[in-house]
Amino acid sequence: MYNKTIAELAEGLRSRQFSSRELTLAYLERISQHQALNAFITATEDLALKQADAADAKLAAGDAEPLTGIPIAHKDIFCTDGIRTSCGSKMLDNFIAPYDATVVAKLQKAGAVMLGKLNMDEFAMGSSNETSFYGPVKNPWDLNAVPGGSSGGSAAAVAARLAAGVTGTDTGGSIRQPAGFCGITGLKPTYGRVSRYGMIAYASSLDQGGPMTRTAEDAAILLQSMAGFDEKDSTSVDRPVPDYRAGLTQPLDGLKIGLPKEFFGEGLSSEVASAIEAGLAEYRKLGAETVEVSMPNLKLAIPAYYVIAPAECSANLSRFDGVRFGYRCEAPADLTDLYTRSRGEGFGREVKRRILMGTYALSAGYYDAYYIKAQKIRRLISDDFKNALSSVDVLMGPVAPSVAFGIGEKIGNPIEMYLSDIYTIAVNLAGLPAMSIPAGFASDKPVGLQIIGNYFAEDRLLNVAHQYQLATQWHQLTPPGFE
Ligand code: GLN
Repeated sequence: MYNKTIAELAEGLRSRQFSSRELTLAYLERISQHQALNAFITATEDLALKQADAADAKLAAGDAEPLTGIPIAHKDIFCTDGIRTSCGSKMLDNFIAPYDATVVAKLQKAGAVMLGKLNMDEFAMGSSNETSFYGPVKNPWDLNAVPGGSSGGSAAAVAARLAAGVTGTDTGGSIRQPAGFCGITGLKPTYGRVSRYGMIAYASSLDQGGPMTRTAEDAAILLQSMAGFDEKDSTSVDRPVPDYRAGLTQPLDGLKIGLPKEFFGEGLSSEVASAIEAGLAEYRKLGAETVEVSMPNLKLAIPAYYVIAPAECSANLSRFDGVRFGYRCEAPADLTDLYTRSRGEGFGREVKRRILMGTYALSAGYYDAYYIKAQKIRRLISDDFKNALSSVDVLMGPVAPSVAFGIGEKIGNPIEMYLSDIYTIAVNLAGLPAMSIPAGFASDKPVGLQIIGNYFAEDRLLNVAHQYQLATQWHQLTPPGFE
């Protein structure tokens, strides 16, 4: 059962091949069987079975919603009413959210069953899931390798078949890079397409939630229920949500693919490059045409991001003060002691590093030199994308310069870790939608192909990804030991 896609499971539930209770029990059993992966922070067995029974009743009554009875799980950055929402941090280890994030509420309304909350880098800061207070997640394809991050638990759960589909968030690559490392499909929507309400903020102008699934068709099904205007999120965009599944079947004849030459230069591993080349060759067979494009400011994406994201995080994380909610130190001597020790003990190293960088960049005297400068670069990068996308339908390239690296390999070297997002970060600075799809292997580990589209062109991206998946098998492979 658990090897089926969401589309197949929905069919199976409707035609009574199995009940949602049976399906949910099968996933719960796998979650406990594969605890060594450390993909889940919290499993919500009782709630899941209650929701599954309710789903079975709806299925029996013939009034099922698109996701009725489908077991999913959420990145632990999304608030879930009455359930611990830790954001991967000691700071929120004791935090029981008093409300549901819009994404959680929408998926629940669409009938999905929630299996639990997924491991992640602390406050979504990281590229390897090693900054989590709950320990690293293992990559199902190689238990000594990282699953990517920050949505590492999400990607590992889908790859290991611990959930039919999951949510993730992407501030600089955190849906796409782990999807690539774990051989699954991940979609980061256009900024504003999916509500950020109840999604714990890291860098508000960059954060975006999205689906992580086995296939593009499944991503379309989840996105359909996640997307849409939300008056509770002032940056959510009031624009109709298209029928994402309807567009999947369109053939790719005449599709124009731009290949940013900066994505294929120095730093890209040669085996990743050959897998990407093979993926592009497949697209040409499907009728697409590839042309080289240039985006001269891409090289500035990482430095600009590592000013803007920490600046926003230093403001967002100031709310964790030991007073209102979250971790509080033992026996504070006075208010200053309460603040400093609660924050000092509650946050991990990477989060502190970001807060320090951000506070510095925003301080009087440095604001113009760093923050304003980074915002100007951000505009130049958006303009590069605008130019490139004016002559092609989509852009393609690798998701990351290498395949999944070893646990412990980069955690001591932040700069090297930051460089693993070199192909994803610019997309967030521009607010564009992008996907990662499985496109082969290098050194026995999955390689992700990145597809970047124009604003609100999620339907086109899903179509381009789906047609590739009809012609290839990469997305169907299961990590050995997880069949
Ligand atoms: N790895 C990047 C960072 O650490 C991106 C993380 C993300 O997208 N949440 O900031």
